[in-house]
Amino acid sequence: MHFRPRFCTDPAAGPRPPRRTECEAERGRPARPAAYRRFLRAGLVAGLCAAFAACPSKSPVPTGPNVVVIAIDTLRADALSSQGGRAGVSPRIDALAASGARFRAAFSHAPWTLPSFSSLYTSLPPQAHGAGGNVREGWRALGEEQTTIAEHFRDAGWATHAIVNVDFLTEPFGTAQGFDDVDARIANDNHEVRRAGPTTDAALRWLDARPERPFFLLVHYFDPHAEYDPPAPWRARFAAEPDRESSGFRFGAREHVVNHRNGRMPLDAATLARARALYDGEVAYTDDEVGRLLDGLAARGLDAHTIVVLTSDHGEEFGEHGSWEHGHTHFDELLHVPLVIRAPGLPPRGVDEPVGLMDVAPTVCALAGLAPPPSFRGRDLASALRDGTPLPPLAGLAAYGNFWGPAIESWREARWKRIDGGAAPLLFDWIADPRERDERAAAEPAILAASRAACQAFLAELGAVPARRGAAVRPDSKARERLESVGYTGGEKGR
Ligand SMILES: [Zn+2]
Repeated sequence: MHFRPRFCTDPAAGPRPPRRTECEAERGRPARPAAYRRFLRAGLVAGLCAAFAACPSKSPVPTGPNVVVIAIDTLRADALSSQGGRAGVSPRIDALAASGARFRAAFSHAPWTLPSFSSLYTSLPPQAHGAGGNVREGWRALGEEQTTIAEHFRDAGWATHAIVNVDFLTEPFGTAQGFDDVDARIANDNHEVRRAGPTTDAALRWLDARPERPFFLLVHYFDPHAEYDPPAPWRARFAAEPDRESSGFRFGAREHVVNHRNGRMPLDAATLARARALYDGEVAYTDDEVGRLLDGLAARGLDAHTIVVLTSDHGEEFGEHGSWEHGHTHFDELLHVPLVIRAPGLPPRGVDEPVGLMDVAPTVCALAGLAPPPSFRGRDLASALRDGTPLPPLAGLAAYGNFWGPAIESWREARWKRIDGGAAPLLFDWIADPRERDERAAAEPAILAASRAACQAFLAELGAVPARRGAAVRPDSKARERLESVGYTGGEKGR
């Protein structure tokens, strides 16, 4: 595995204990007694590693920077105030976006958690990493043979830690690989899930007790995912009028999911509006907690030496194409996600060109001074973000998966987006028709055929045809019970 840690010293001269002045200049923060003591100890370890050949060559002590990935489950891009959402929903995320690279056309590679996070982690589309499956045939784990961004940073000497709130991001699903520790709080019911407040608390506690070396930290917030039950201040500000009168109302409980999947819960306009209001309240609450996490980084003097990535694994539908929740289609209420990258030395800029979550890992590696592993097939955007030059050419963005049944495939190029997997193919001019109302497959057969050929060529180059399948996951009975409790199984049987 190739890597190039960013030493304080000239790597060509070999690692040596870094001097205070050069590393402090690189870290861009003032000398602090405690930080300086940690720094000296880290330098001592690096020196010892150089002195003793027995020290594993893959574990020098790099100087960083740190990486914090904030992954907000189920956050559609246009929920943010800065991307068309309600005013006041996302002041802290919008402020973060204004201080970094903010991508207005970022897309996930799957409409649900497991395959989407796996693409973020491996820089591969689901057809190539193989994680996913569906509720009828069972789930497929991310294979041990895959290299994740956490593994890559861990092998280069970073401390790696994940704070997660759903089964799909834990060891049985292959998504814990690369993390030294995973702080998973998996509730028996979405009503009992660890909320954004305790999630931020866990992140701040870990920062205070972190190992004395650079770190890669993933913080997963689950609150915008059903159930929608925002805490009182956000409920009062954003929830529809009936909810203010009955403060205990929750939308998206298991019975709602199951009844909806069985056609027993009509999605009338009032129901959808109420669900959306509560969802917006959850997003606003999460935004506040993201702000507290960012404040915690700043208060610990970490800002100037930390890359912050904020994104989501997929969005949420509120009736735009006749349904609710996620996992079931590839329309952009599910694939269009927020993406912000703030990094030391990276000027703030807006990016309108399309990017995929596959592009995140190679870009973060480059920003941290690490060469990405050869298995990462997304684009390294770092130079373009630094210089303001056009992004590297994009072949297209593949998405794959359907939580509830047979797989759906989609392929997006500069103008056209094709969705295959239902009764008939769908084709949209996603630039001119971002709401995907004007279906063009019958009218544009040549474009449809070209889209299929381009996608096949892209996947063939990755060695992903036919679609790879990860190992079957057999959750233990408790995990299965938990997933059932949130509507993840059994919906077809009427439970
Ligand atoms: Zn998710």
